[in-house]
Amino acid sequence: MAKTQEHGAFTPSEIDLEKLGRALAKWFGAHARDLSFRATRDPYAIWVSEIMAQQTQIATVERYFRGFMARFPTVKDLAQAREDDVLAAWSGLGYYRRARLLHRGAQHVASELHGRIPASAEALREIPGIGPYTAGAISSIAFDQPSPLVDGNVARVVSRLRGLREPGEQDAKSKAHWEFVAKLLRVESPRILAQALMELGALVCTPRTPACEQCPLRSQCSAYATQSTGQIPSPKVRAQSPVEMWWAIVIVCRQQVWMQQRPSTGLLAGMWTPPLLSRTPKERKPSTRALAKIVEGFGAKEVAIGNDVRHVFSHRIWEVRVATLRSSQKPKTTGDGVWYESGGEIPGGIPSLTKKVLG
Ligand code: SF4
Repeated sequence: MAKTQEHGAFTPSEIDLEKLGRALAKWFGAHARDLSFRATRDPYAIWVSEIMAQQTQIATVERYFRGFMARFPTVKDLAQAREDDVLAAWSGLGYYRRARLLHRGAQHVASELHGRIPASAEALREIPGIGPYTAGAISSIAFDQPSPLVDGNVARVVSRLRGLREPGEQDAKSKAHWEFVAKLLRVESPRILAQALMELGALVCTPRTPACEQCPLRSQCSAYATQSTGQIPSPKVRAQSPVEMWWAIVIVCRQQVWMQQRPSTGLLAGMWTPPLLSRTPKERKPSTRALAKIVEGFGAKEVAIGNDVRHVFSHRIWEVRVATLRSSQKPKTTGDGVWYESGGEIPGGIPSLTKKVLG
């Protein structure tokens, strides 16, 4: 096969898409993971799984997906649910904004679309919370339409196949990627090929050490031919996330812990954590005055300083130091809160940060 560009990149017209698509579909048939959300063509279930899969490992999605679907089996059930209940079912998955948008999207489908999820990517994009990638995933996987979808995984596969070395060309938003995938999905069943591309990116064409020897596409892959998988995609210089420091004030009384609900906007909005106090690097204990604002007249004198918990959000890091107070009597508390028993549920949900803090 001829390569036209100086670095050995293939143009889309030089790649035999028929051959590529057939090889990809055959590989997917033999190697796809057996995942519960792959067994369905229900667009609502595929929507839920795709939103869960953003920023989350597939093994974790697999754990939560069944429970969520059992609780909200249809888009109508989700639309009618209280937000607190949706967040509780999402509890532990993180990035709770996704759950809120999914809920809002379901309400839009129920009220504006008579409960029917549309088949075309264009119509899907009208639903709150559905972006180009999710629209392509629902349209191609549930409705077998050649609607392209490009995320980081797919962009990496296509960039390597085509030998694209410029960071701008490698981006998942690159129009050329979307056009390439749209053409590829017409070769065989879009439902199969869309999932196959995602699966190949996750299992074989991985970021650091792609398993090229097991790849069904290697005979047409530029990066493989030129031994440049280490340079494509170009290594990213990651901006450092800001670090915020907190005390988690864990007040324990008779196996229960005092919890407060986070504000309705911002990180962990509406979720429950022990009271959090901002902390400076030199502070060895939370200040008595700051503690008094949280708990009035608590009997416990000892504040035990425990482990540090590190919690990484998408654009910031929280370093939380645990300060535990034990009391034989439930103290009077200021502000709203609840006594929580470990393992229980509270409407609004317990984020994984709280689970880490409570150990
Ligand atoms: S041959 Fe290697 S670099 Fe090319 S698509 Fe396959 S795994 Fe990725």
